[in-house]
Amino acid sequence: MILMNDFRREPDALRSAMLAAVERVMNSGWYVLGEEGERFERRWAGMCGVRHGVGVGNGMQAIEIALLALNIGPGDEVITTPMTAFATVLAILRTGATPVLADIDPQTALLSLASADRCLSSRTRAVVLVHLYGQLAAMDAWTDWCAGRNLSLVEDCAHAHLATWRGRAAGCFGHVGAFSFYPTKNLGALGDAGMLVTDDGALAKRACSLRNYGKSMLGRHAELGLNSRLDEMQAAILMERIGVLEHATAARRAIAMTYRDAIRNPLVALPSPPCENAAHVHHLFVINCEARDALQAHLHRHGIQTLIHYPIPVHHQKPCRNLLRDPGGLLAAERHAHTCLSLPCHPYLDSAEVAAVVDAVNSFVP
Ligand SMILES: *Cc1c(COP(=O)(O)O)cnc(C)c1O
Repeated sequence: MILMNDFRREPDALRSAMLAAVERVMNSGWYVLGEEGERFERRWAGMCGVRHGVGVGNGMQAIEIALLALNIGPGDEVITTPMTAFATVLAILRTGATPVLADIDPQTALLSLASADRCLSSRTRAVVLVHLYGQLAAMDAWTDWCAGRNLSLVEDCAHAHLATWRGRAAGCFGHVGAFSFYPTKNLGALGDAGMLVTDDGALAKRACSLRNYGKSMLGRHAELGLNSRLDEMQAAILMERIGVLEHATAARRAIAMTYRDAIRNPLVALPSPPCENAAHVHHLFVINCEARDALQAHLHRHGIQTLIHYPIPVHHQKPCRNLLRDPGGLLAAERHAHTCLSLPCHPYLDSAEVAAVVDAVNSFVP
């Protein structure tokens, strides 16, 4: 089976480096919120081009803590996309704020600025912008739009480790960038982990308190926080894994380029060419096909695993059916959910496997 992810193929040198990192942590006798975590925070924030990183337990809580640190809560509206991991919207709901779903751009599947504009109200306080599949939109349009309306911008960077727009990395455009290091992400831990990155020192300090029950100096609890700490073991492992990220991203890009050049089936729509000035990191390579389910079954018969990101848009999930949304509807998101299919694009696919995926897609007839 050609898999969506296959961690067993990672290089032996990486495995040895991770084992040495685990040993280093065990020998240190310090396991939660320590030097390894601080080192990783500094390194990752630096790579994103901002001053502060705050390691947290996972990507969902990175978004939740970002919103809390921006003083967003009950009575506030936060605009986001229905074409995302459920965690994006759940994070907003958990703060007590009200998510408002805007539609996607049918070309890129990224949040539509025109639709977001229709979602504005006097209560709108923030946008959670998802860099879906690993691609950034024209970020000046978003930062200008948010600044003009006094809105906070939180970037959901779970798909977009070191994706850039005009040479600047995901996470540096908004007030906060929220990363997940879930194992399947482009930079993944051997477990759960996440981080907020920001240039705002006061916000970083507040996030540090919020991740640790809301604790400040001397055991004082000025507010109610979470338990969402990054442990030393995952931080040390992630430090080693940063070492293969550039190579892995290059491999994803090469696979995406091959798919673009070689997939030729009139029933299959390739993803639109990358946005101008944007360097895509291809967390996912997503095609669209009206006969999506038949195509998925055909690929499965040819030994190719595929997944759907995402099969059910958020507003069709049971707890979210009454969420506020663009009064014009969410038709592009619904269409995308019915037709999208993610092909294997992980960095350790070999060229024969990539060719097998291409052949299988090209041989599909319903
Ligand atoms: C994975 C993911 C998250 C949540 O990250 P976790 O670490 O699983 O909590 C949020 N948003 C998007 C777009 C994701 O893909």
